[in-house]
Amino acid sequence: MSINWFPGHMAKARREVEENLKKVDVVIEILDARIPDSSHNPMMDEITKHKPRVVVLNKVDMADPKATDRWLSKFRSKGKYPVALDGRHNQIIKKIEPLAVKATADDFNRMEEKGIRRRAIRAMIIGIPNVGKSTVINNIAKKKGAKTGNTPGVTKQQQWIKAGQQMELLDTPGILWPKFEDEATGKKLALTGAIKDTVVPLDEVAIFGMQYLLEWDPERFNAFYNISVSQDDDIVTVFDAIGKSRGMKASGNEINYEAVTNRVIHDIRNGKIGRYTFDKVDTQ
Ligand code: GDP
Repeated sequence: MSINWFPGHMAKARREVEENLKKVDVVIEILDARIPDSSHNPMMDEITKHKPRVVVLNKVDMADPKATDRWLSKFRSKGKYPVALDGRHNQIIKKIEPLAVKATADDFNRMEEKGIRRRAIRAMIIGIPNVGKSTVINNIAKKKGAKTGNTPGVTKQQQWIKAGQQMELLDTPGILWPKFEDEATGKKLALTGAIKDTVVPLDEVAIFGMQYLLEWDPERFNAFYNISVSQDDDIVTVFDAIGKSRGMKASGNEINYEAVTNRVIHDIRNGKIGRYTFDKVDTQ
């Protein structure tokens, strides 16, 4: 599997994030609720050291609600402060701020005991590309045009944004690289749009998605495409069925496999077929 991230980029991203971490009391890690494990940078724990961590399971509108509950319990059991939300909704700060307060309570109490005057809680947002970092920041900042882009690390000119009643947030997120631990992780990242389409061959991504749906939600998958296939069918049969049902023909009445591939990826990625969580909590 080819990788877009190189050791130099990773080292730079890591250094920049570590530099910014010194300025904050709490880290708000944004994950994709559909892949809470695959969208977690493996070095995150090492990089954030002992900083309290609020975990935002973003894009919850596209994840399986039961799986989301299981993930929330799992994160709580590990001493994290998780919340599941749709980053595009207003008022998300009302869900995030109380958790940041709880997460930092011990540290601030200790400071007060030492006679240090209470100040705003300082936070920064961290996550891999496309999990919704800018969406969340823009939403909290209530201003258009917070910096977007998939450059590693963080940009230089930063500002603190007032976030809620007692929090300040760095306006630029820390961007970390996605993990490429195995092929399944790469396919999940591609299926949810976290990595560029070119990194994993698209047909493999589509096949992964089809097989997932045929295993976990075959009725809805069949109903959505108005087809009748099963897990036992050859994958070409599945492509053919969708192509035929949706009239995706190339010249000479052949099925246009590329069109089927793109269609399936688009439908799954955007939650058109249903709400799915591709990382299972019990297998972690
Ligand atoms: P970033 O690279 O982490 O800053 O990600 P962006 O904020 O640019 O978001 C990537 C895409 O996900 C955009 O198209 C957003 O509109 C979309 N997005 C962000 N949050 C949510 C969410 O909670 N639900 C849904 N459905 N889409 C979201």
